[in-house]
Amino acid sequence: MDRHAVIIGGGIGGLAAAIALRRADWRVTVRERDAALPATGTALGMWPAALRALDALGVGDEIRRAAPAQRAGAFLRPDGSRIATIDVDRLRRRTGDDVHLVSRPRLLAVLHRAAAGAGADLRAGDPVGEQAGGRAGHPVDDAFADLGADLGADLVVAADGVFSRTRERLFGPAYRARHSGGTAWRGVVDDLPTDTFAEVWGRGVKFGVTPHEGGRTNWYAAGAAPAGRFHPGAEVAELRRVFGGWTSPVGDVLDAIEESTVLRHDVYVTPPLPSYVHGSTVLIGDAAHAMTPDLGRGACEAIIDAVALASCLRAAPTPARGLREYDRQRRPVTRRLARMAGLGARLTQVRHALPVRDQVLRASMLAGPPG
Ligand SMILES: Cc1cc2nc3c(=O)[nH]c(=O)nc-3n(C[C@H](O)[C@H](O)[C@H](O)COP(=O)(O)OP(=O)(O)OC[C@H]3O[C@@H](n4cnc5c(N)ncnc54)[C@H](O)[C@@H]3O)c2cc1C
Repeated sequence: MDRHAVIIGGGIGGLAAAIALRRADWRVTVRERDAALPATGTALGMWPAALRALDALGVGDEIRRAAPAQRAGAFLRPDGSRIATIDVDRLRRRTGDDVHLVSRPRLLAVLHRAAAGAGADLRAGDPVGEQAGGRAGHPVDDAFADLGADLGADLVVAADGVFSRTRERLFGPAYRARHSGGTAWRGVVDDLPTDTFAEVWGRGVKFGVTPHEGGRTNWYAAGAAPAGRFHPGAEVAELRRVFGGWTSPVGDVLDAIEESTVLRHDVYVTPPLPSYVHGSTVLIGDAAHAMTPDLGRGACEAIIDAVALASCLRAAPTPARGLREYDRQRRPVTRRLARMAGLGARLTQVRHALPVRDQVLRASMLAGPPG
């Protein structure tokens, strides 16, 4: 049977879904709004479960080879004292893998090449819903149960990210992404190679450092802030104001950051959806469950969604049953992770009773990270 899937969004989840669905014998069209893949970007932690999903797509070892593994990790205080050690060996013993830090451009390039190689029709600069027949901003109604017919597809995969218009059109404005109350800075610096994950927790803010490809260092910082309170052209000064005088490696990284390389974003999350399926449309990745970045799991879960979706469709007697099974498998897990990530964000924003916060952090390490 010639079954056709249209995927809205050619990001991490969309490209992973393209490969997985091609491997399950679907004809696949990916419609991506942007004209080109990004050339720059920071590192994403790929957890063992995501690496297994990448294995299922045939690219796991390529990512493991290209992306440095995180060999050690610690939570510190700004004065250098240790809150907790991350037991990297335990994760390896439990799962047989490390966390690998892959840059977003490399991950997208690898997935794009694999999707093209698998025969997906990849259309760049081709948005859905932003110029198509005045559909943009259309209120939620029954017409969108038929999004598949609109797009000439048996299946629509909404992989259009945290600000997914598809989600809003299908489920209504109550499911629009909302500001989490947090903000994040990110970047990469040269000449400071590290194989260690270090996260330094201050009063209501934290600064993290991880390995990056090519002997570079990935860094990020987070804290509470109202939406849109940016410092164009002066983010490094703001970072120095907040994190200046902190223990190594924060100070060294702050000295090396160039203003033009700083990425600054407010963090948005999505309210829990009643289902990841609406008619013949299925949501994956941030479109379904955008979470705060505190567990470093959003991209991992987008890839796992894609592989689970194709596997459910392959195993089920009808696509509708496959979609129901995908929702059953993926919604509870991703909701739990989103809740945990939200707790991590709230913990970051704690300004008082820091010893209690530190105890919670230590206890979360005893429970161990979700592999
Ligand atoms: C500060 C920060 C740090 C993070 N760190 C990590 C980490 O270490 N590990 C991890 O796993 N995750 C991490 N994440 C989360 C991760 O970035 C996201 O979860 C991931 O990018 C989601 O992938 P996606 O494919 O669902 O969405 P996206 O990557 O947002 O892709 C959506 C795609 O859809 C396209 N699109 C949107 N609308 C349309 C339209 N109408 N028509 C056509 N195309 C459209 C967009 O152009 C885009 O290419 C982090 C996030 C942040 C903010």
